[in-house]
Amino acid sequence: MNRQPIQENRGEDRGGAVRLFGASYAFYQICGSRSVVAMNNVASQLIEAARAVCGEFPLRDDFSAGSVGAAILTDKGNVYTGVCIDLACGLGFCAEVAAVAEMLKHRERRIAAIVAVAGDKILSPCGRCREMIAQVDARNLDCDVIVGKERTVSLRALLPDHWLTDARDTEESEGRA
Ligand SMILES: [Zn+2]
Repeated sequence: MNRQPIQENRGEDRGGAVRLFGASYAFYQICGSRSVVAMNNVASQLIEAARAVCGEFPLRDDFSAGSVGAAILTDKGNVYTGVCIDLACGLGFCAEVAAVAEMLKHRERRIAAIVAVAGDKILSPCGRCREMIAQVDARNLDCDVIVGKERTVSLRALLPDHWLTDARDTEESEGRA
């Protein structure tokens, strides 16, 4: 399969990227994503960012946008957000798709953490979004998926034995390489 790498963002143009995390993200990186204190700090800020864009917006007929908001923290410490679009005939898409598109627009592809919210509820990503995140970058299998207020799981746990992951990837992620 011929998969071209996306050109890296060299940092000249961050456009709509928002740096929310500062010290807490640096702490998160130093501690590793499984540090509870660091993760809770990042999770609450990411949930906040997703909530900020969430809010239903009526379109024609019974259609709407924005009932779900998503926020992504990339490995570079940038945050990208998106909202869902609910249309007929399967034409809409999830908030995670919009947030990933925003991230790709800024030539980033590696996700550190992701969350989707609908009002006060935190939503686990649907199967299609799990797959999409994994296909954007293999390393995203190790990203933190915030699935509850104090509950975070790796994407790998939500997508075991991913079909594009070869044995070497698994060994590297488990520190056996
Ligand atoms: Zn989805």
